[in-house]
Amino acid sequence: MSADHFPRQSPEPSDDAPDRPRTLIGDRRDLFLNRVEGETGANVSACYQCERCTNACPVSYYMDVKPHQVIRHVQLGWRERLLGAATIWVCLSCEMCSTYCPNEVAVAKVINHLRNLAYHSSIPPKERLLAVFHQTFLQELQRYGRVNELWLMSAFNRKPGILRAKVKAGTLKDELLLGLALWRKGKLHLVPRRSKAIEEIKAVYRRQRGEVD
Ligand code: SF4
Ligand code: SF4
Repeated sequence: MSADHFPRQSPEPSDDAPDRPRTLIGDRRDLFLNRVEGETGANVSACYQCERCTNACPVSYYMDVKPHQVIRHVQLGWRERLLGAATIWVCLSCEMCSTYCPNEVAVAKVINHLRNLAYHSSIPPKERLLAVFHQTFLQELQRYGRVNELWLMSAFNRKPGILRAKVKAGTLKDELLLGLALWRKGKLHLVPRRSKAIEEIKAVYRRQRGEVD
């Protein structure tokens, strides 16, 4: 899809315009673009919508906003649309998009950043199960510095509404069978092991929250 498929950002009305349209905070001019570029170091402005990132993405079929569209949305400052999109939770962070970009736009880094922004925003996640899983993964990582699969799934299943959602979707039985198969192969461990780098990892979390060491 080319850039022409997207509606152009409407020109800012002059101050004396009688019916000034309401613009959402964060969607004004280049503020959002500058913020994302500044916080990620990604050269979002360099994108010329060639779509190679989307063609390289293994899960773009499941995304409501394709990777090249994500970059275009950032250029246009469409923050709310991005933080409310399924894409930021569907992305696997595999970096294929960034690898294939001819302009070295760090697409995966931008999507990861948007996911963190959404996590701290009041915008409800479009893919709640994935968003809760992401949150649980980060909480478990913070506890031990590495993730124990058994504890992760146990913590995830204890979050409100998760088990009910799995029963409704009919995935619980398959999940239990998979867990059993992994257990028999010795791939699951009862007791989590603490990473030697746990203090450094905790410091990263504190910095992310804006706390001073
Ligand atoms: S591959 Fe790079 S230049 Fe092409 S659309 Fe994606 S981000 Fe833009
Ligand atoms: S990092 Fe995300 S957007 Fe990029 S190719 Fe992988 S899954 Fe697709």
